[in-house]
Amino acid sequence: MKQNSVFVGIAVILAGALWIYGTYLSTPKKAHRLPAGATSPQGKRVEKTDAEWRGLLTRKQYAVTRERDTEWPNSSELTHEHRAGLYSCVCCHNPLFSSRTKFDSGTGWPSFYDPIVVNAIYTEPDGSRTEVRCSVCDAHLGHVFTDGPEPTGLRFCMNGTALSFTQVSQ
Ligand SMILES: [Zn+2]
Repeated sequence: MKQNSVFVGIAVILAGALWIYGTYLSTPKKAHRLPAGATSPQGKRVEKTDAEWRGLLTRKQYAVTRERDTEWPNSSELTHEHRAGLYSCVCCHNPLFSSRTKFDSGTGWPSFYDPIVVNAIYTEPDGSRTEVRCSVCDAHLGHVFTDGPEPTGLRFCMNGTALSFTQVSQ
C-alpha cells in the first residue's frame, strides 16, 4: 500500500514535469522589444517570426544576428573594407555606420567609433560587456567597448556577417 502511493507520487511529479516542459516548448520565442527610452529612426520597426528570419537569412547570418553568435575574427571581408560607403543591417537594411567612422582596431572585426545616427542602434548589458543591437529589427550586431579612438572613445566591434556594405561615390 505504501509502495503504491510512492509510485503514484512519482507518476504525478513526472506528469507535471512533462506538462511544464511541453508548455515551454510550445511557447513561441518572445519577440525582442526596444528597451524603455530607446527609439529607432522614424520609429521604424521590422518584426518577423523565427521561421521568417530563417527563410530570409543564410545560416551564418541567422546564427549571428538572431542567435547572438560571433563570427571568427578576420572571417569577414568587411574587416578590411576601406572604400567609402554605408554599412547597413543585413536583416532589415537599417543604415548603421558610415565608412567615415570606421577604423582599423586590429581585432579582426569591422570596428567603428560612432553609429551613423544615435538611434540606429541600442545597447543592452551582456554580462561584463555591452551588446549592440539594430534598433529597427533587434538584430545582434556585436559589442561596444570604451577603448576606441577620439572623438567618442568608443569601439563598436561588429560582426561583418551582420552588415551589408554599399559603396558610395565621393
Ligand atoms: Zn536590423
